[in-house]
Amino acid sequence: MYQVIDGKKISQEIKDELKEKVAAMKAEGVERCLAVIQVGSDPASSVYVNNKKKACEYIGIKSLAYELPEETTEEELLELIGSLNAREDVNGILVQLPVPEHINEDKVLLAISPKKDVDGFHPVNVGNLSIGRPGYVSCTPAGVIQLLKRSGIEIAGKECVVLGRSNIVGKPMAMLLLRENGTVTVCHSRTRDLREITKRADILVVAVGRPKMVDAGYVKEGAVVIDVGIHRNENNRLCGDVDFDSVAPHVSAITPVPGGVGPMTIAMLMNNCVEGCR
Ligand code: NDP
Repeated sequence: MYQVIDGKKISQEIKDELKEKVAAMKAEGVERCLAVIQVGSDPASSVYVNNKKKACEYIGIKSLAYELPEETTEEELLELIGSLNAREDVNGILVQLPVPEHINEDKVLLAISPKKDVDGFHPVNVGNLSIGRPGYVSCTPAGVIQLLKRSGIEIAGKECVVLGRSNIVGKPMAMLLLRENGTVTVCHSRTRDLREITKRADILVVAVGRPKMVDAGYVKEGAVVIDVGIHRNENNRLCGDVDFDSVAPHVSAITPVPGGVGPMTIAMLMNNCVEGCR
């Protein structure tokens, strides 16, 4: 029988721990404040921003919401980021992606001070992660590590395969698994004999962005499978990159979609806001 890793429950545990920490910090006169900037009114982005606001409220983090119109110029956005970088009362800054096409995303991410980059996307933080220095870590892969640890799954010495090499999931995921002493292989669209490699995995993390691509033919008996993917199917139901029904009977543990990795991303964002770049 396989274990279903309950991301909803684990993320709630993390949020409750953070709530206590924030209350203790407040008692010592320290307040945490996250600035969330959204440019335009993309409905999916509005949902994410709203969820972040709600999580801040729950934990006791002050949140500043900047809802800027679609036609905001790059200069105006950079100016706002600059002013938030300079504010001592703001300790986290987040720009909800994607930004409209006329704004250069790289410039925006570079403009956020690495000390306030709670998303962990700034090259300084990415570099710190790869050389093992303290810094902010990208929230989704950090959430995957917490799911594994809090489910009692040992990473050290395990054969870990990451399917996907994006800057926000695959690459930082590989660095984190390496930091936890896993033996890590990263696969991508040019990988040959993909199934042969994924079948070696004791821990398989799938962030490939293709609905239900990974079926039983990709996994070893008894593996742990973490599904980062999120898609909405034709019936408006959520599914992941893993075909859960095909894979689950063969594994020792697996994350569902929804209720697996998804809720961990916000919990880890809150963790970054509370802990700072330790
Ligand atoms: P990207 O599209 O940026 O990256 C996908 C990766 O998968 C790329 O490295 C690509 O390879 C590789 N890939 C694509 N097709 C294949 C294939 N057929 N065989 C092998 N490799 C392939 O996606 P993200 O990393 O941003 O996201 C991945 C998934 O995770 C998505 O479903 C996304 O919605 C979800 N997601 C979920 C989050 C959460 O909070 N739970 C947060 C972020 C993302 P190549 O580099 O060669 O092109």
